[in-house]
Amino acid sequence: MIYLKNYINGELIEPLKKQYLENIDPSTGTVFSMIPDSDADDVQLAVNAAKAAEDAWGNMHYEKRAKYIEAIAKGIEARMEEFVAAESLDNGKPLNLARHVDIPRAVSNFRFFATAIQQSSTESHFMEGVGVNYTLRRPIGVVACISPWNLPLYLFSWKIAPALAAGNCVVAKPSEITPYTSYLLSEVCKEVGLPKGVLNIVHGLGQKVGDAISKNIDIKAISFTGGTSTGRTIASIAAPMFKKLSLELGGKNPNIIFADCNFDQMLKTTVRSSFENQGQICLCGSRIFIERPIYEKFKAAFIEKVNALSIGDPSTDVNVGAIVSKPHYEKILSYIELAKQEGGTILTGGESVKPAGRCENGYFIKPTVIEGLAYNCRTNMEEIFGPVVTLTPFDTEEEVLMYANATEYGLAATIWTENLSRAHRMAEKVESGIIWINCWLLRDLRTPFGGMKNSGVGREGGWEALRFFTEAKNVCIRY
Ligand code: NAD
Repeated sequence: MIYLKNYINGELIEPLKKQYLENIDPSTGTVFSMIPDSDADDVQLAVNAAKAAEDAWGNMHYEKRAKYIEAIAKGIEARMEEFVAAESLDNGKPLNLARHVDIPRAVSNFRFFATAIQQSSTESHFMEGVGVNYTLRRPIGVVACISPWNLPLYLFSWKIAPALAAGNCVVAKPSEITPYTSYLLSEVCKEVGLPKGVLNIVHGLGQKVGDAISKNIDIKAISFTGGTSTGRTIASIAAPMFKKLSLELGGKNPNIIFADCNFDQMLKTTVRSSFENQGQICLCGSRIFIERPIYEKFKAAFIEKVNALSIGDPSTDVNVGAIVSKPHYEKILSYIELAKQEGGTILTGGESVKPAGRCENGYFIKPTVIEGLAYNCRTNMEEIFGPVVTLTPFDTEEEVLMYANATEYGLAATIWTENLSRAHRMAEKVESGIIWINCWLLRDLRTPFGGMKNSGVGREGGWEALRFFTEAKNVCIRY
């Protein structure tokens, strides 16, 4: 049995009260590790370490800070297969996905921000004949990063890397459901000799560790990715304390397919955008709207491709792995039941699977495609966050815009059309922080990333992340 430890003040230590939680491999339903069940005292210890390190790290030359961050990237790369196996085991995602997406992207996140901080500049504003202003950007001090289970190290590093690059000391909390790769990250930080207290990783439950972070007066900013209701709870605690908040929340993304699209390209990508990572990516397009002239053609071709997806043991060469946890698996199945009650027809999937052998007690759900639902029923309004998509035909741009914008969310949208004017028109009118035209999940780390409406507040990525993790001072000089 593996016992994970907290990483505080440069050391791997047990939680103060020596309490642990079970961590389950979702592909078998068995416990494979124990994780610290930390509480507010462990968070305070981490905050104290971060405060003690704050001046030295914040005042260190940015090139030196960047060297440490690059060393973390290299340290993960050197242990790539170990990280890949840990991510797949913890989350249930296919090994191949962790190998090609999750872990390489975590490496890129550290590498990108190690470089970005060395390329960044600040603005100046001239007052002709009178004086000049310039913007001084300084680290905030102690900041927190809280991340979810779906892309564990990918999203954890997406926050930690810019926070550190900008000169902050960090108290970070990974999801208690997928803590393993963040533990390996703390080993890497030790290996590369990251100064003590600069990064602290506290494991445990959201209601204990996350809550203590939200309430801690010395933590001046929180970057959070997770569910909308958790984001609301954090904001309700942290906003009255005037903490700076970046909230990356839930989604219910539209995938809008016009009849003039490049059909083959669209079809291939739509299978991915529907079911990659078992549909557990906040950017997956779970509501597919198809222009009526190609509705039947799309439906037949899509179902054929979905039925060809292999599902089972994530450590083997499969397309679809396990759902992350039993409660989440049950939640997804309950939404499939709801869809039936709401009048939906299950075109394929709609049930759990018990792969023979090692994974017979794991949490597997067949990729599910549903049609015949109203655009505004609960199945089409609420985030399911699993391998479930709905198909809805439409006749006009106005109609599909109304459908697309009908939810409380506004994270990401995909639009398929070869008509350039229509693509731009739609991009302007769809209420989403991220719009992909004729592609999905094509990422450039320099671009602003985040959602509108109940999908979040603020943007991360590139310059936006460095902005979030710094305080801007205007310095005004009279000639
Ligand atoms: P979650 O909100 O349950 O948990 C996210 C993190 O918050 C975890 O580390 C958890 O321990 C912590 N947490 C839970 N309760 C807390 C509290 N009261 N105070 C402080 N922290 C608390 O989300 P999840 O189930 O881990 O992740 C799935 C959700 O994340 C989905 O809604 C998905 O859309 C969203 N998500 C959004 C993005 C994005 O970029 N917008 C990316 C990935 C996932």
